[in-house]
Amino acid sequence: MSVRPQPGILDIALYEGGQAHVEGVADVVKLSSNENPFGPSLAAQEAFRRIAGQLHRYPPTDHADLRAAIAAVHGLDADRVICGAGSDEIITFLCQAYAGPGDEVVYTEHGFSMYRISALAAGATPVEVPERARTVDVDAVLAGVTERTRLVFIANPANPTGTMLPEDDISRLADGLPESALLVLDGAYAEYVEGFDGGAAQVEARNSVVMTRTFSKIYGLGGLRVGWGYGAQEVIGVLNRVRGPFNLGQPALETARAALLDRGYVTYCQSENARLRAWLTEALTDLGVGVDPSSTNFILARFDNPAEADACDAYLKSQGLIVRKVAGYKLPEALRITVGDESACRRVVHAIRQFREGQA
Ligand SMILES: *Cc1c(COP(=O)(O)O)cnc(C)c1O
Repeated sequence: MSVRPQPGILDIALYEGGQAHVEGVADVVKLSSNENPFGPSLAAQEAFRRIAGQLHRYPPTDHADLRAAIAAVHGLDADRVICGAGSDEIITFLCQAYAGPGDEVVYTEHGFSMYRISALAAGATPVEVPERARTVDVDAVLAGVTERTRLVFIANPANPTGTMLPEDDISRLADGLPESALLVLDGAYAEYVEGFDGGAAQVEARNSVVMTRTFSKIYGLGGLRVGWGYGAQEVIGVLNRVRGPFNLGQPALETARAALLDRGYVTYCQSENARLRAWLTEALTDLGVGVDPSSTNFILARFDNPAEADACDAYLKSQGLIVRKVAGYKLPEALRITVGDESACRRVVHAIRQFREGQA
């Protein structure tokens, strides 16, 4: 065939989702995609059922009700909110609108894989900069920025490391970028950090900062595909030009809104996650497994070497516990483990203890 895709497309390695099944093992717990172990709130489930009889209707194109709810809950300007099919779609819009052939998109060593994928899909050049001890290094990011840089992606807190940069570092990064680049703060895990605004104040302070958020993590709606972005009017206006008018269906819009307004459930999920994350971190540390303090709904468990991480992954799988290998994120000695419910956390610790004792 002589029809060729655009340059860069064939360089994209397909995104690998978290595994969900193990052959021959029943009672499997999926801890590989940072999903909310308690599922979506009952209010969200009711909203989803209620919409079933309306599926013949096209959805609104302006997402006004969902944007108004987002603005009210977070104290933002609804006119500067854009909604997408997951925050992945907002990342795609940003690359499509701001980065093309000859332009550079900067992200960090262990950064979320969608940044590279979306940059390549837009024909831009991905530029990866080193981290320091699994934490974003502001100086390294600034050193990687050139006059060709159009976008800098930072997840805060980060996936798959779980680490977080303090506000001062983010300000220093934003201040150090040239005017020709946008800083994108990916706040997919912001709700797991008590009192954190996900980067909203940075957006308010600078036209060059964009924040992305998602309903896939604490809201337990990964299967629905809803995310949003917040930025300067000019930027959001640009993104809306590349957004398909019907990118979100009515079930997604109504269900996300109901989930957002159920604040009691969000608080419950946040406190359970914090409690179980602390317990899991301490139990694994006691077993001699390296765990950085996590600001997310997962922990990164570091083993002595890649072979031990692979062997532990295989053992966990044999016990019906599916976690995430992160060798593709340049962390071959580590496994990313979602903080599940209490029984799942106990099973993980029990299995890793058995594994470590079997090794000894
Ligand atoms: C899970 C995750 C997202 C969310 O993706 P959606 O498309 O909203 O499901 C975004 N960024 C990071 C770093 C994530 O881990």
